[in-house]
Amino acid sequence: VSEFSGQRITVAGLGVSGISAARALAGLGARVTVVDGGDGERQRGAAAELERAHTGITVRLGDGATLPEGTDLVVTSPGWRPDSALFAAAGSAGVEVVGDVEIAWRLRGPDAPPWLAVTGTNGKTTTVQMLAAILTAAGLRTAAVGNIGTPIIDVVLSGEPYDVLAVELSSYQLHWAPSVRPHSAAVLNLAPDHLDWHGSMAGYAADKGRIYEGNTVACVYNAADPATEDLVREADVVEGCRAIGFTLGTPGPSQLGVVDGVLVDRAFIPQRHRQAQELAEVTDVTPAAPHNIANALAAAALARAYGVEPRAVRDGLRAFTPDAHRIAHVADVAGVSYVNDSKATNTHAAQASLAAYESIVWIAGGLAKGATFDDLVKTAAGRLRGAVLIGADRQLIADALARHAPDVPVVGLDRTDTEAMAAAVREATALARPGDTVLMAPACASMDMFTNYNERGEAFAAAVADLTD
Ligand code: ADP
Repeated sequence: VSEFSGQRITVAGLGVSGISAARALAGLGARVTVVDGGDGERQRGAAAELERAHTGITVRLGDGATLPEGTDLVVTSPGWRPDSALFAAAGSAGVEVVGDVEIAWRLRGPDAPPWLAVTGTNGKTTTVQMLAAILTAAGLRTAAVGNIGTPIIDVVLSGEPYDVLAVELSSYQLHWAPSVRPHSAAVLNLAPDHLDWHGSMAGYAADKGRIYEGNTVACVYNAADPATEDLVREADVVEGCRAIGFTLGTPGPSQLGVVDGVLVDRAFIPQRHRQAQELAEVTDVTPAAPHNIANALAAAALARAYGVEPRAVRDGLRAFTPDAHRIAHVADVAGVSYVNDSKATNTHAAQASLAAYESIVWIAGGLAKGATFDDLVKTAAGRLRGAVLIGADRQLIADALARHAPDVPVVGLDRTDTEAMAAAVREATALARPGDTVLMAPACASMDMFTNYNERGEAFAAAVADLTD
């Protein structure tokens, strides 16, 4: 019998995560009310289906603000801001508010697998997948979970005999997961993103920093991003837990780094060994771009903290293949390389992929989410052959280019129809010369023109395929 049995639980939001939480909690004997401010066709359909399938679930549509009478616990969904009226009402009533990750953590049994956790502004999914590949190569039973794939509650309840889990945690999830205590955790980087949700950069950083709370073996930070190391310093960890840095340069003691094209570990080696332990070649990492080598070092650090042998780090990194739409090479046409980084939905991510190529025709634009583009354009200016701008906020990027890269030819496309990406690819092709890379790294969200970044990436790939038809 779980602690949720017999509890009256209010779930905020009738989305993927809310439905998964409602089902799981009803299955555990809780009396669940799902509330949603919407009352459209989609919500009504989902509500009817949920109520039909589970006797323990009631859905209340058209009011996402009032706390149902007698609520013992509120479970959030990612889209709900922390200052939502429902949570304020819970606060005044002394009712606890938690997210799905917290529920998953509380459902773990005594022999539950430990969590190796990853957060950061960019690179979370990639790093967690690399980590899972390394753990698998070490013969461990594991899964990459959290902000990706199967909802984490379902994984915990599945009863699968995992040895250890590779857990991706977004800042939202960390905000609402007060008792999660990973074995070891990494914050990859910290750049402004989602500030509208967290209220401020300080609030965003504090939420990310929660991942280090209660770590037992290692808090992994990015030596090139001092804000991540600050978070380690502020964290309350178990005695003996170490701060472990990763760097693209020569590692200091207690760091992993890169020496002559080799990923090396100076942190998890026997004391009598003065020398660094070699883990893998840089070329074992796909793509071998600097930001991705940083991801690999973070994954290696967590695996090493868990006791994984160097050889499995190398085998795991070799076995890893990146997801689609993340710096994915699409094709070479007439000596020009076409690369899809549709997942670069903010400037920090776009900066990483722009740094990975020498001579670039850049396709960018979309929804800026309040970002500014000056720093990004300044650092990339020397490598830009040209730029093709699409989407609602393209003028913001055009202005930044005019300020910092006035000699770079810029084509702005004043269209948002389904053929706009094809037009952008043709314009970029006209600007490119053999040896160049046409890089679609929009630095913006996609929802002004596409359903999501997948669809944007597919449109790009289809347009590139059309070039050769
Ligand atoms: P997340 O899960 O944090 O969104 P992903 O692994 O899906 O991260 O990568 C998101 C985007 O960020 C991709 O466009 C990728 O090229 C870029 N990226 C990946 N790792 C890093 C990193 N360490 N620093 C900056 N950008 C990165």
